[in-house]
Amino acid sequence: MPSAEQIMQFVFALRSKGVRDAEVLKAMEKIDRGLFVDGVFASRAYEDVPLPIACGQTISQPSIVGLMTQAAQISPRDHVLEVGTGSGYQAAILSQLARRVWTVDRHRKLARRAEDRFAELGLTNITVMPGDGSFGLPDQAPFDRILVTAAAEDPPGPLLAQLRIGGIMVVPVGQSDAVQSLIKVTRTETGYDYEELRSVRFVPLVEGLATDR
Ligand code: SAH
Repeated sequence: MPSAEQIMQFVFALRSKGVRDAEVLKAMEKIDRGLFVDGVFASRAYEDVPLPIACGQTISQPSIVGLMTQAAQISPRDHVLEVGTGSGYQAAILSQLARRVWTVDRHRKLARRAEDRFAELGLTNITVMPGDGSFGLPDQAPFDRILVTAAAEDPPGPLLAQLRIGGIMVVPVGQSDAVQSLIKVTRTETGYDYEELRSVRFVPLVEGLATDR
């Protein structure tokens, strides 16, 4: 459990980096990031830094989680897809704002662990699916909001297709090691509007289900 002081500093850092939405801040104050970080790194869970998790992946920097969630403008009735479950932290935040959340990861181990965490926390509106999230979840589509938390060269076509008209997708775009841009895509009646939000650095979106168990 974080101390009151740690929570205050955590929220202060979020605000100072531009996370202003009251509902987003409330969700981030409520969900304990320490529960999504393992072992030696747990002591740094309330710092505004990305941290290593299993399978060579990372839990994103809290301010980036906040800014992506804020950009997605989630409403309580929304069905949300997240690609890149990782630790499950981003999905847990989304679960506080949306009606239902589906989250997909190509590492079964991460998917399983996240599922256990959601069960422990009583977050019953999240469904975890192992798989290649770049194909989305055709059976659950269309989605009101889609968040991609791994960098693609372009927004994946199947995800664009699974976005409801009026829906918003937030996705980091660019080469894995070079500069990436966080893009907000809005689906209109006639096409897609693209807005560049800021530069970011994410692990790459990788094809196919991982072979490790
Ligand atoms: N949102 C996570 C952090 C994501 S790290 C959190 O809150 O902790 C990026 C994740 O994307 C990794 O777990 C990686 O396994 C996953 N990933 C990469 N390519 C993927 C793909 N094609 N489909 C699904 N998940 C993918």
